[in-house]
Amino acid sequence: APGSPALMSAPSPDRLDQLRAPVHWQAVDFISDLHLQPGEPQTFEVWRAMLQRPVSERPDALFILGDLFEVWVGDDVLASTASTDQAFWRACAEALRVFSVHTPVYFMAGNRDFLLGAQGLHACGMHGLSDPTTFDFLGQHWLLSHGDALCLADTDYMRFRAQVRQPSWQRDFLAQPLSERTAIARDLREQSEARKRNTANDPSLWADVDAAAARAALQATGAHTLIHGHTHRPAVHALGDGLQRVVLSDWDAAAHPPRAEVLRLDAQGLRRVPLPLS
Ligand code: MN
Repeated sequence: APGSPALMSAPSPDRLDQLRAPVHWQAVDFISDLHLQPGEPQTFEVWRAMLQRPVSERPDALFILGDLFEVWVGDDVLASTASTDQAFWRACAEALRVFSVHTPVYFMAGNRDFLLGAQGLHACGMHGLSDPTTFDFLGQHWLLSHGDALCLADTDYMRFRAQVRQPSWQRDFLAQPLSERTAIARDLREQSEARKRNTANDPSLWADVDAAAARAALQATGAHTLIHGHTHRPAVHALGDGLQRVVLSDWDAAAHPPRAEVLRLDAQGLRRVPLPLS
């Protein structure tokens, strides 16, 4: 049986847990929860158009704070040509790789894409970040997280998370054939969707970031603002003593109204910038 869930996953050696912005950086963008998947081409196209902007219209760096991909069953999806889905994952990696030639991309894993490993990061031209990471920028400390590790009230999920973030679990899972992993991932997603349907009408049952845990994480790192995704409930929450958490929007370019925005941070502060829809 899994032990008590770790509040945050341990930093892995190939991922930074502290990042100091180079002095010339003036603006950075944060995104999360795009849930890119072969069946949702509109969101992919809006995102790819963002990556294809001329360098003069880009931020100095792009931060992806988890759940870029709806599912990631192993970096070997990029090498395989066994299905049309794999062409989709390769198109995602290629769009990132081309963008990263001129603009650095930092990737923190979410609960959907935590199996993106060193090879996947390399193929996408991305630098890995641990969860959480402190980010020094504009003379201040910012704390970056996906957010799922702070949703303490969802004890079932916290148990599941503690299990699947263990290196031994990941080794065993990745040792299975790609087709088997894809089937397991589909089952897990269907269970998760069913749970969401059962609680959809009762907001008190939706897990949200625990305010005390968010405050503790900020105080431990000397940061004043936590930037996170995962909950799909974009907002700014005051946590007292000048601390706050800022929640990223998820993306769905096919929704009514569509959702596709970045959180821009520059000398003027934080603001949400909607993206042009293709
Ligand atoms: Mn998530």
